[in-house]
Amino acid sequence: MMTNQDIFQRAQQTIPGGVNSPVRAFKSVGGTPRFITRAEGAHIWDIEGKQYIDYLGSWGPAIVGHAHPEVVKAVQDATLNGLSFGAPTEGEVVLAEKIAELLPSIEQVRLVSSGTEATMSAIRLARGFTGRKKIIKFEGCYHGHSDSLLVKAGSGLLTFGNPSSAGVPAEFVSHTIVLDYNDIDKVKKTFEEVGHDIACIIVEPIAGNMNLVKPVVGFLEGLRELCTAYGALLIFDEVMTGFRAGPKGVQGLTGIKPDLTTLAKVIGGGMPVGAFGGRKEIMQHIAPMGAVYQAGTLSGNPISVAAGLKTLEILSRPGFYEKLTSATEALITGLKEKAAKHHIAFSADSVGGMFGIYFRSSIPTRFAEVHESNITAFNTFFHAMLDEGVHLAPSAFEAGFVSACHDNEVLNKTFEAADKAFAKVAAL
Ligand code: PMP
Repeated sequence: MMTNQDIFQRAQQTIPGGVNSPVRAFKSVGGTPRFITRAEGAHIWDIEGKQYIDYLGSWGPAIVGHAHPEVVKAVQDATLNGLSFGAPTEGEVVLAEKIAELLPSIEQVRLVSSGTEATMSAIRLARGFTGRKKIIKFEGCYHGHSDSLLVKAGSGLLTFGNPSSAGVPAEFVSHTIVLDYNDIDKVKKTFEEVGHDIACIIVEPIAGNMNLVKPVVGFLEGLRELCTAYGALLIFDEVMTGFRAGPKGVQGLTGIKPDLTTLAKVIGGGMPVGAFGGRKEIMQHIAPMGAVYQAGTLSGNPISVAAGLKTLEILSRPGFYEKLTSATEALITGLKEKAAKHHIAFSADSVGGMFGIYFRSSIPTRFAEVHESNITAFNTFFHAMLDEGVHLAPSAFEAGFVSACHDNEVLNKTFEAADKAFAKVAAL
């Protein structure tokens, strides 16, 4: 039988680091990544045939559970009609209408193929619309890997401790201002100094790339007020939180209306999709209507659209979010109980179907606080859980994801595993 170790070694011969996205390599937790052969509902299986409860959910998209029969059927049906046309389809129109219906801040939306493309395009649009150069982002927020956003980004970069990436000339990021998440005073001061040069603020309205960090009261409200006052655009990067934190994203939870929103993950139901949208007046500046160029060979791909539409339909059914939210809350309550039993400094938080676990005694609100977590404890916990058949994100700086298939049986098995894993942490 081929082992994960065998295939990982082979992979490293022809794929850099053996993976096609850096966090998958287990670099921060050590050990061997699991090579996945299949997934169904709340579970995934690796190449050795071992089953795991999955809290990665493909990093967010698998909200209705892996390989949901209705989504698979929609994809199968769509493939029979051809894989890509490079010409418009009705499905794209329906998906755009559905997104606009669910997120009232979006009047028009353009589909792309990834979250990175969505944020990159939204920034270009904000600059084109305002005629300004500078952008504000927050340390620990990740908005994909386009050049001007690779400054003190979160996710894999945070894990690897790189403040930025090689290959990005300083000039390319010289208009990117990086501030502290949840520190509205610094944002205010920045606007007082250079407010009329700022094209936009891009923010994860609930951060999920420095573990889960929620906005403190007044932070998002303050961003909205400042953008309005200075004529800058507020971009909510809801690539992760869109249809994950709640049925209308964070904008639905808070009532704060961004000018532009970026989406991906859930709206593709596991297929490659991204989107950016907002007020019509702004979106009309994109080619072919306006002077801001943006395009894509596979944008609005019919198979991705079919998966996304079916996923949005399923999560629009009555009770979907109530069930998802209570399963996620039950998960963190159970984990906290097990941690307390073993006297581990541990806290946890959740919103909708996403959660954060922190090896520190209180929930962090700042990037610096996230870094005060006990990483050795996390890594021990991670590997112990993996041994017990629970697949968590392989880094202390990532959020976790629950699906509609994570029922009581799955949760109870998770708690049994956690009991043993926390015991190992206690023995450190
Ligand atoms: N923005 C956020 C908030 C994200 O979480 C991610 C990916 N995790 C991205 C942008 C980039 O999306 P993608 O990986 O699809 O390019």
